[in-house]
Amino acid sequence: MSTQTVDLVDYDDAVTRYDPVIGIEVHVELGTRSKMFDGAPQTFGDEPNTAVTPVSLGLPGALPVVNRTAVEYAVRIGLALNCTIAESCRFARKNYFYPDVPKNFQTSQYDEPIAYDGHLDIELEDGSTFRVEIERAHMEEDAGKNTHVGGAGGRIQGADYSLVDYNRAGIPLVEIVTRPIEGAGDRAPEVARVYVNTLRDIFRALGVSEARMERGNVRADVNLSLRPTPESPLGTRTETKNVNSFRSVERAVRYEISRQAAVLDAGAAVIQETRHWHEDTGTTSPGRVKSDAEDYRYFPEPDLVPLAPPRDWVEDIRAHLPELPVARRRRLQADWGYSDAEMRDLVNAGAGELIEATVTAGASPAAARKWWMGELARTAKADGVSLEELAITPAQVAELAALVEAGRINDKLARQVVGGVLAGEGSPEQVVVARGLEVVSDDGALDAAIDEALAANPDVVEKIRGGKVQAAGAIVGAVMKATRGKADAARVRELLLERIG
Ligand code: MN
Repeated sequence: MSTQTVDLVDYDDAVTRYDPVIGIEVHVELGTRSKMFDGAPQTFGDEPNTAVTPVSLGLPGALPVVNRTAVEYAVRIGLALNCTIAESCRFARKNYFYPDVPKNFQTSQYDEPIAYDGHLDIELEDGSTFRVEIERAHMEEDAGKNTHVGGAGGRIQGADYSLVDYNRAGIPLVEIVTRPIEGAGDRAPEVARVYVNTLRDIFRALGVSEARMERGNVRADVNLSLRPTPESPLGTRTETKNVNSFRSVERAVRYEISRQAAVLDAGAAVIQETRHWHEDTGTTSPGRVKSDAEDYRYFPEPDLVPLAPPRDWVEDIRAHLPELPVARRRRLQADWGYSDAEMRDLVNAGAGELIEATVTAGASPAAARKWWMGELARTAKADGVSLEELAITPAQVAELAALVEAGRINDKLARQVVGGVLAGEGSPEQVVVARGLEVVSDDGALDAAIDEALAANPDVVEKIRGGKVQAAGAIVGAVMKATRGKADAARVRELLLERIG
């Protein structure tokens, strides 16, 4: 299916002739110790089917019990997203058959979610704010995991056999559903990415999930439709499922805009369907025709009583919400004295936490920013990795900055020290010692190097004596070269002028 080729409309052309509307559903796995409705431990990477109980397996007679911590986490998320927390809400059965759902239904929430009517202000790359309206945040449980063996691309079609692991079945989820996001125009892909990224940061700040995208802790379903103008009724949407990285969210929206524009240009109708995202080709392919809610035959879960979070408990949770990422960013910017542009650049580079840790480890904000956004950012880009993946820690960057501050190394030597740390040669101090990189400021050693440089450049000496002090730079340069960059340039200059003057 993914080999199917389709015509695409050039993105810029598509967004001048169509108005994109997005809608995003984000599932986040809550980091509770046990599952949503039973005492089975929540684990990752365990032997298949070991973190299970009769409830996880949907055995006859097994009864669910609601996890109080999961409810608390859901309330935290709802409050952070400026939602109303329901006085009373209910669980519902979402009925469908699939082997990873052992009960033949998912326990979810339907018409009575725990949180609703919220909004989230996100900051785009150009520093502008965009408001995303939140329709609801509801609690549910994760499904197990099917592994289809022998087919192409891990899909069930053509597989020889399938395995199912119920360790994930029953892990608490909160699903956050936006209202249709209108008015993003050609920035729709960016809005989608920044929204999911902002949510991830909030989950981490709230302490409700490790929110590791690569582990599937956070999964985004991206709805997209096009309409001729912002005044037109909403078009038919597609839902691209389980997009697992920020970049892919952006690419998926972009791709669907170009694809749907081609469908509409051809006079055809967009089919309401789910679509699969293909990371390798950056394309989507048809999944199944999208079920409407009525197909799931939702009905209230008879084994669980309605849930009524006490108001004083909700207010207590509100009062103890941690500082959220946007507020924290503003505070740090003020503390560090960075300009708006500097702050935005480092946020976009994903360097905020690294710089904060570096400052905490003793570096000045200016030095921390200089190293992470300069030499280290260049290295990361050249190696095609993120800053976090570089083999240097914030503490080591702080140590490096301290060595520069103390005058033991200069910037040029410091770059060599960075190279050594990244190459696994140890801490900055160890690299300085092992490679002999310390600045030479010992007058005796410098005098000898200056003598040599003066002897080799008699013409320059004449110029300096003749009053052209700036010619001293040539001698300083010669000394630096002779010492392979290790001389203390300022001291060399002083000694030189003392000598000649
Ligand atoms: Mn869901």
